[in-house]
Amino acid sequence: MRWALLGGGAALLVAALGLGWWASRDPGPAEPGAAVEPARAEDEPEPPRTYADIPKIDVHVHVPRTLGPSAMRIFGAHGVRVALNASGAEPGERLDTLVQSGRPIRLLPYCHVDWRRSADEDFAAYAEDTLARCAAAGAVGLKIFKGLGLGYANDDGTLLRVDDPRLDPAFEAAGRHGLPVLIHTGDPKAFFEPDTPANERHAELAAHPSWSFHGERLDRYGEPIGHRWPSWESMLEQFENRVARHPDTTFVGAHFGNAPEEPDRVERMLDAYPNLYVETGARVPEIGRHDPARMRRLFTEHADRILFGTDFQMSPGGGFVLGSVGESLDPPSRIPGFYEAHWRYFETEDRGFAHPTPIQGDWTIDGLGLSEEVLEQIYHRNAERLFGLEPLAPDDGSAEPAESGE
Ligand SMILES: [Zn+2]
Repeated sequence: MRWALLGGGAALLVAALGLGWWASRDPGPAEPGAAVEPARAEDEPEPPRTYADIPKIDVHVHVPRTLGPSAMRIFGAHGVRVALNASGAEPGERLDTLVQSGRPIRLLPYCHVDWRRSADEDFAAYAEDTLARCAAAGAVGLKIFKGLGLGYANDDGTLLRVDDPRLDPAFEAAGRHGLPVLIHTGDPKAFFEPDTPANERHAELAAHPSWSFHGERLDRYGEPIGHRWPSWESMLEQFENRVARHPDTTFVGAHFGNAPEEPDRVERMLDAYPNLYVETGARVPEIGRHDPARMRRLFTEHADRILFGTDFQMSPGGGFVLGSVGESLDPPSRIPGFYEAHWRYFETEDRGFAHPTPIQGDWTIDGLGLSEEVLEQIYHRNAERLFGLEPLAPDDGSAEPAESGE
C-alpha cells in the first residue's frame, strides 16, 4: 500500500490497527514528526501528504572505505536503498552490499581522475585508461571536486580552469564509457563575497576560513600570491562551457547545478543542455528559500532531470558532516532530523520550517508538496536510468528475509 493511496478509509484502518504507516515500513529508529495518523471523521479535509514510502537513491554521499557497513545501516534505516559514494572505496573493492530487513542496501563508488596530471604529455592516454578501468570495475560515474577550478594551479600560479581544453579527453572518455560526471564547481555565492559579520554564511566561514574565495589568493603563509580568486559568475561560466562542449557526456551538476541561488539559471541550462542533470546535495537550505510555487514548477517541469542527493558525509574518525558543519562534526543524533527535513521539503507544503543544515544560515524553508509521480522520478527512477541501476521495487514491506550479505 502506497502513501498516496492512504485516503480516509485506509488511514482510519491503519490507525485502527495501531500501525503508523511510516513506522510499519521503516525498521530504523523512530522519526520525529512522523506520528501515527489520528483517526479522522469522514468529512474532515485530507491531511497533507507526507513522508512517502518511496525507495530512495542518494547520488551524493561521502563514506570512507572502512565505514561502508555502518553507513549502509544508516541509509537503510532512512529509506535510502542505494547510495553513490563520491569518495572512499575504489571501484572493485566490493564493500558495497549489506542486507537489512531482507532488503539489499548498496553503496556504489564513483571514480576520480588526477587533474594534477593534466599538464603531462600523456594525459589523454592516462584519462582514457583510468576511466576504462573504472567502468570495467563497476564504478557508477566520475566525481569531480571543486578543487578543479578552485584548487589546482598551473605553473604560472593561475588556477586550472574547469573548461581548460587540455582536460577535454577525460570528459570525452567519460561519455564513451557511459560514466555520468557528478561535478562540483564553485561554491555558495556568499563564499565569494567578503567575510564580514554581514555575510550570511559568516558562521561557516569563521569555522572554515579556507572556504572563502574572495579577493586575493594567499599562499600557505597567508601572503598574497599575485592572483585573485575568480568570481562566482566565472565559475558558473566555466561549468557551463564544459557541459556545452560534450553533448555525448552526461553531467550531473552537484549542489543543484552549482547555482542553487539562481533557479532561473538552472532552468535555462536544463533547457539548453539535454545532457545536464542536477542533484540536491547540501542545497535544500538554499533552494528551500525560493518561492515554493516557482520551485515546484521547476521540479515538476524538469522532473526527469533532477536527482535526490544529500552530500551526507561520514568522517573516518567518527562523526558526520550533514550538509556542512561548524568547528565540530555533527553527532549521530542529528541524522534523523537531517533526512526528515529533506522529506518534508520535497513532500509537504509546510511553510517556514527548519532546513537540514543549521550552520548554513539562519532562515527557514518552504515545502514543495511534489506529486507522487515527480517524487518517484527524483527519488530513484532518474538515478536508475542515468547510472544503469536495477529498478527498485516499492517499500511495500514484502521483501523476503535474506540469510546474509553478499
Ligand atoms: Zn560532496
